[in-house]
Amino acid sequence: MSGVTHVDVAVIGTGYVGTTTSIAFAAWDHKVIAIDSDREKISKLNRSVLPFYEEGLEKRLEQYRGSGNLSFTDDLKQGIARCDVLFIAVGTPSSPDGSADLSYVEMVARQIGQMMDRYKVVVTKSTVPVGTGDKIKAIITDELKKRNLSFSVDIVSNPEFLREGRALYDALHPERVVIGCETETAKKVMATLYERAQAPILYTTIRDAEMIKYAANAFLATKISFVNELARLCEKTGTNIMKVTEGMGMDSRIGPQFLRAGIGYGGSCFPKDTTALLNLAREQKIVLPILQAASDVNQTQVTWFMKRIQRTMGSFSGKRITLLGLTFKPETDDTREAPSLKIIEQLLQNKAVVNAYDPQGMEHVKKIYPQVVYKLTPYEALKGADAIILATEWREILDLDWSKVKGLVTQPYLFDGRNALDPSAMRDLGYCYVGIGIGERG
Ligand code: NAD
Repeated sequence: MSGVTHVDVAVIGTGYVGTTTSIAFAAWDHKVIAIDSDREKISKLNRSVLPFYEEGLEKRLEQYRGSGNLSFTDDLKQGIARCDVLFIAVGTPSSPDGSADLSYVEMVARQIGQMMDRYKVVVTKSTVPVGTGDKIKAIITDELKKRNLSFSVDIVSNPEFLREGRALYDALHPERVVIGCETETAKKVMATLYERAQAPILYTTIRDAEMIKYAANAFLATKISFVNELARLCEKTGTNIMKVTEGMGMDSRIGPQFLRAGIGYGGSCFPKDTTALLNLAREQKIVLPILQAASDVNQTQVTWFMKRIQRTMGSFSGKRITLLGLTFKPETDDTREAPSLKIIEQLLQNKAVVNAYDPQGMEHVKKIYPQVVYKLTPYEALKGADAIILATEWREILDLDWSKVKGLVTQPYLFDGRNALDPSAMRDLGYCYVGIGIGERG
């Protein structure tokens, strides 16, 4: 395959990662077949409709489908027959014991072994624990043996670091590309695929690449929990975590990112990846007390905030509370493991009446909590509220006419779970404003 500038790639799994990766490869002029077993998703994608929300992605989807670089199918066999490079981008959710559920990855590996008709490079984009590359190879070889075949297969680990909400930008302009591979042929194919990314490439073993992804997410999760833990102390000591982290972040050894105190991390990656890494450590009989503490702080952060709210406004029973923001962060429709879900749970348990508004996440949450009243505009959601809880810092929410809102609510309690509003401006408008770790005077 040396000298090839365009690669035929099959991407299996068209979720946030698979679709974005497919679009990035198509943008770099490779020929991509994206495959999913979910026919409804494929039918949408074939009409250039994105099955999830991600700014700017739908336009590119249409563009690259039109250019002929990108097509979608539910026919895995066709993808495997046409492409020598197969990316696995299916989900790896948490199992009940906290380990990564590899059943989707293993299923795809089995299918590849059952359908491949020549040499393939099989690349794992999904986040998988150390040793999964070996498992994938064993499954494929086993399936080939059943068919009395012995084509060679190269396994590659190429973890994904994109952020939902910035997925397209991150996929097109990665800060680094990590490639874990063990043959020159696989290395050359991967170098060709990423040539136009103009990013530094780190070549490692497959196992190192698998570990890098978990280590990076675990470190970021720890940074967030460290700050959230400090926020609890700041609140008690009348200090302001926002100022403290501003001062910390000016030190280039620390850096300003991931230092915002809030109601904790959520989403489809940090909670499941920290848990999976802790599980891997347990299997290896290694204790990771720092990561365990980071996970524990995150588990308790919403409850800590809800207690703070109750201390301020009293019992939730019978109170109308408006939740602004449901997604785990702005600019995505992803509500997996979002702190807002824990907030709803606790409010309902304490017999509050919950109104909610989110620009993108309401449909998902409605399925879990039909008893919440979902409103089409934030102002409707805020009418007659006894308290406001801001759970996701969408620009649209921050830019509300807060003076108008003050006229709509029954009581002026404003609990900012993201420290995203200006406390003194809110207090000047007459709100009883409470943030995270910013003390009474903050
Ligand atoms: P997702 O749940 O959005 O999408 C997974 C897709 O795989 C689904 O569309 C599903 O139908 C499809 N699928 C499952 N089994 C299949 C099969 N046998 N054949 C074909 N398709 C199949 O998941 P996601 O958020 O895109 O994440 C995918 C992986 O990437 C996970 O391991 C995740 O941890 C990792 N990751 C996610 C992000 C993120 O921000 N979402 C970032 C980096 C890494």
